[in-house]
Amino acid sequence: MTSQTKPVDHELVEAAAHVARTRCRGDNHTMAAAARARDGRIVTAVNAYHFTGGPCAELVVVGAAAAQGVYELETIVAVGDRERGVVPPCGRCRQVLLDYFPGLKVIVGDGDRVRAVPVTDLLPETYVWADHQLDAG
Ligand SMILES: [Zn+2]
Repeated sequence: MTSQTKPVDHELVEAAAHVARTRCRGDNHTMAAAARARDGRIVTAVNAYHFTGGPCAELVVVGAAAAQGVYELETIVAVGDRERGVVPPCGRCRQVLLDYFPGLKVIVGDGDRVRAVPVTDLLPETYVWADHQLDAG
């Protein structure tokens, strides 16, 4: 349990689960993600697996959101295919999500342990890219 657990957006979890059930296929698309935009919209996506480093569903959803004019995400969740339930973000995604959306909540855990935590809780003592740019103030 983290110090800042937030209420879980169950509609968002169900949106990701629905995409995982209906759109994931074969080895290329095995994970779905859903993000809640600041304006309330939900954006969904699936991963694009490739051995060269194809993007996780969380990263695809960031691009898909931008393509719809959504640049402020409040909450994100990823759900695996084959009824795997909520899957926590990998290390790369944690770093990207923190740099893009420092105030983001991430839904993690499974079953009755599902919970929303600040992305900063998933990367304690993290490197913050923006703090190391020349114009950082
Ligand atoms: Zn990832």
